[in-house]
Amino acid sequence: MNDEPNKFARWRRDMVENQIIARGVADAAVIDAMTRVPRHLFVSEAMAESAYGDFPLPIGEGQTISQPYIIAEMTQRLELSGSERVLEIGTGSGYQAAILSKIVYKVYTIERNNTLFVQTRKLFDRLKYHNIVTRYSDGTQGWKQEGPFDAIIVTAGGNQVPTPLVDQLAIGGRLVMPVGGLHSQELLKIEKTENGIQTTNLGGCRFVKLIGQHGWSE
Ligand code: SAH
Repeated sequence: MNDEPNKFARWRRDMVENQIIARGVADAAVIDAMTRVPRHLFVSEAMAESAYGDFPLPIGEGQTISQPYIIAEMTQRLELSGSERVLEIGTGSGYQAAILSKIVYKVYTIERNNTLFVQTRKLFDRLKYHNIVTRYSDGTQGWKQEGPFDAIIVTAGGNQVPTPLVDQLAIGGRLVMPVGGLHSQELLKIEKTENGIQTTNLGGCRFVKLIGQHGWSE
């Protein structure tokens, strides 16, 4: 008998209980998505046993998948209700996009690293995430043809908020992204209203670099 799935499901419930709910994340859709998405399938087999730990994990190519709590917090800050079209910059392992796909109508995700792009595209097909569309390009330029987006999430740290992303955000939309230096950033929430942009600082964080025309150079 194979008890693996039960083990992972149990660890996932513990993760949601102790790392997400206990720290104040209350958005039911976020909690439900994090209870359902098998995080261990988004990391290498060697890392699967660590997938539900309270820390970020390497995903290859010098990149990392964020700690579960950070993902829950950023997703909650997008204030999603289900009908949205969301843009993600930095597909990486695909885990954040998979979480979003359980909550919203459609996810658009961009990755600049070809190895991760190809690998994760295949994973989405294999796991049947049919409402995620992927693109291999510089995400700091956004995805003009598909905009405007109801919400935008950037999962790499930039030195500025890329202007194209603000342009491609719908009125009433939310953009969450880390902005600052190479070694530490502040998580910013930007809301676009009829009267302009409103920025809230959600506190310190640490992400890998956002590389591109409106980000860091390589
Ligand atoms: N959301 C991912 C996090 C991956 S780490 C996950 O759930 O696993 C951040 C990712 O951003 C890396 O894969 C990196 O290659 C990518 N990245 C960095 N700059 C980028 C850019 N300008 N456009 C698209 N992807 C970028």
